[in-house]
Amino acid sequence: MTTATTFQVPYSALGRQAGTIKTDLLAAVDSVLDSGRYILGPNVKAFEQEFAAYCGSRLACGVSNGTSALHLTLRAIGLKPGDEVITAPNSFVASASTTVLAGGRPVFADVLDDMNLDPASVEAAVTPRTRAIVPVHLTGRPARMPEILDVAKRHNLFVLEDAAQAVGATLNGRRVGHWGDAAAFSLHPLKNLHAYGDGGIVTSDDQTLMQHLDVARSHGLPNRDTLAFWSFNSRLDELQAAMLRVQLRHLEAWTEERRRLAFRYNERLRGCVIVPDEGAGERHVYQTYMIQAERRDDLKRHLVENGVEALVHYATPIHLQPAARDFGYTERDFPMCKRVVDRILSLPLYPGLTGEQQDRVCELVVAFYGGK
Ligand SMILES: *Cc1c(COP(=O)(O)O)cnc(C)c1O
Repeated sequence: MTTATTFQVPYSALGRQAGTIKTDLLAAVDSVLDSGRYILGPNVKAFEQEFAAYCGSRLACGVSNGTSALHLTLRAIGLKPGDEVITAPNSFVASASTTVLAGGRPVFADVLDDMNLDPASVEAAVTPRTRAIVPVHLTGRPARMPEILDVAKRHNLFVLEDAAQAVGATLNGRRVGHWGDAAAFSLHPLKNLHAYGDGGIVTSDDQTLMQHLDVARSHGLPNRDTLAFWSFNSRLDELQAAMLRVQLRHLEAWTEERRRLAFRYNERLRGCVIVPDEGAGERHVYQTYMIQAERRDDLKRHLVENGVEALVHYATPIHLQPAARDFGYTERDFPMCKRVVDRILSLPLYPGLTGEQQDRVCELVVAFYGGK
């Protein structure tokens, strides 16, 4: 028996995207290989300057991944045991694990229907032990930074943006990475600007903090002979930095393509599901194109069975993970988070997704709900 091959829409197509800039990537690799400088060389420095300029920030520090970017920054502010850091429960685990690893205690607050932190819930979670807020710009949509900064100011808290998913997003014309005291970005392959492997970067205007991070990413050694404090080896590689500089030149065009694709999905799917429209003043960069759907698990199965790779980010919120058991949260905490977690679904969206592929996804979703 022969079966027709199902038309496939994979969740990502990274190799195809790399192919579009391969000549420049290979030239960058070639020049690093010839230079003989593979750790903290001129490409890391240049990438840091170019990335800081892109974000509108004064300084940037390249590190080994987005988790290190969060972790080293939280270590830099010197959390003491019992110190609390408020973040969103519906994020990738690193938004909270890095507080634990830096010696503090993560405290969660609820989100709004845009899936980002609710400033009122953040304020209600503040205690005398609160030291910092880590707002996540989930899916590439900016969190409510003006209101969050107001809360931080009233309580004298450090604000570290988890901008891992949101490079290039803006709110009221101001880029993420230039709202908080510092911001952490991931350069993981599934992020909009990415290494061909792992990478991360911190932005800040605070020179003292950034000088500390420069040492913290390199064992705590300000020079070969002096150990200033105990730390990790968490550097961004020169090879990755050279390739990231090539990517950065394409980021705006790729982001615009993501946005066009997202608007097209929004138009087609509105009415069947809740689509991620932008709020006032927002530029969403759609690292993840996430809808909210009734009968989500059935819809996901329907898509997957028909060749469309749809995913749930993230099926279990952090406060309900086994690792978080000691913090004592339950299913009854954070009603809005609970509501969205049961309905979210991420659809394929990336530069190079074809109109035919996108049409296929839309047809399947619309058919699932019995047409519009
Ligand atoms: C990807 C991601 C991280 C971690 O970045 P890595 O580079 O994978 O360590 C942290 N927070 C969020 C919200 C992320 O999406």
